[in-house]
Amino acid sequence: MSEDETPLGHELKQLIALQGPISVEAFMAVCLGHPRHGYYMTRDPLGAGGDFVTAPEISQMFGELLGLWAAETWRLMGAPVAINLVELGPGRGTLMADAVRVARVVPGFREAISIHLVETSPVLRARQEATLADAGEVAWHASVDTLPDGPAIILANEFFDALPVRQFLRTDQGWHERLVGLNDAGELTFGIAAAPSPEITTEGPVGALLEVPRAGLAVAGEIAQRLIAQGGALLAIDYGHMRSGFGDTLQAVRAHRFVDVLATPGEADLTTHVDFALIGKVGRLAGAAQHGPMTQGEFLTALGINERAAVLKRKLVGREADAIDHALARLVEGGPGGRARIEAANENGTAAPEGMGQLFKVIALADPALPLLPGFTARIAPGV
Ligand code: SAH
Repeated sequence: MSEDETPLGHELKQLIALQGPISVEAFMAVCLGHPRHGYYMTRDPLGAGGDFVTAPEISQMFGELLGLWAAETWRLMGAPVAINLVELGPGRGTLMADAVRVARVVPGFREAISIHLVETSPVLRARQEATLADAGEVAWHASVDTLPDGPAIILANEFFDALPVRQFLRTDQGWHERLVGLNDAGELTFGIAAAPSPEITTEGPVGALLEVPRAGLAVAGEIAQRLIAQGGALLAIDYGHMRSGFGDTLQAVRAHRFVDVLATPGEADLTTHVDFALIGKVGRLAGAAQHGPMTQGEFLTALGINERAAVLKRKLVGREADAIDHALARLVEGGPGGRARIEAANENGTAAPEGMGQLFKVIALADPALPLLPGFTARIAPGV
């Protein structure tokens, strides 16, 4: 093992030397989920001392508004006496703790919910258990497959971006899967499969790069089917685009900086931008109604984040009041989006640009029997 090589990098090089190149999808899955060296398996990556900061860690207002969203959605469902409140990839458990605390103000909601967390990381499970110590009973699941039957409200913040995607490069012969192999010096390098993949039938110009979020779409489709059969809604928030397009969005972040995707396997966070149009389409094809997508800034504003900030500030002065204004601006205001975000961020050396309000989008998939859900301005019926 050379000096600057990570343990997982070493293992991957040996594997590729033996078996040949692996897909970008497999590379991403191994880097994030390898049982011993996978990024999420070994650490709590969140917060100022970690690799990146998420909305619930910026301010309690985020989880509180999502808690009120869940309670209002429950009311629109006819206030069932028992409902599963589920979170996918709950990080430190902060969002759920803030949501449950504030949702106590809605009569009957706290008594109706059972909390279920879908989490693969043992480190983060322990963290969630500590955060939610006072929240009552909590059940953990390794995947959505083992969630109990019944109506469900499912929250997912920065979950879909962490699921592995396939990438394809268009040549005049078709779409070739993008691979990770070894160069002459024995270092990890990108390449493409010699033969095109006939199952990819998307139209696109030569040179285009297509991302196929197979794992994320499988989860969205499975959840949509469950929601139409058993009632409820999924609310997903992530960075990404409202319309499908071409381009490589795979990125690696370490200590709040963008780093080379192949340089430190298992020690940098790997994500892609989420294709909200595709999630909506998969949901509608499964029979769910689509609400949104819209920007996080518009959504939180519609849910009343300005009013909530004003209430929190009432008893505060000076620095503490300024901190609320700062958090509000980060959650709601825009910054450079997409690729531009990466380049701008690299210039000043940080991967946490101020405004999340524009780059982050919000979508819901829901039981088609439900009306327009809180915060949203548009609803698309299933099938179309
Ligand atoms: N939602 C949190 C954390 C986002 S980080 C927040 O906003 O702060 C991504 C989260 O998804 C982590 O908790 C990570 O461990 C979890 N995760 C990643 N891949 C997963 C998978 N395949 N199944 C379940 N959880 C996963």
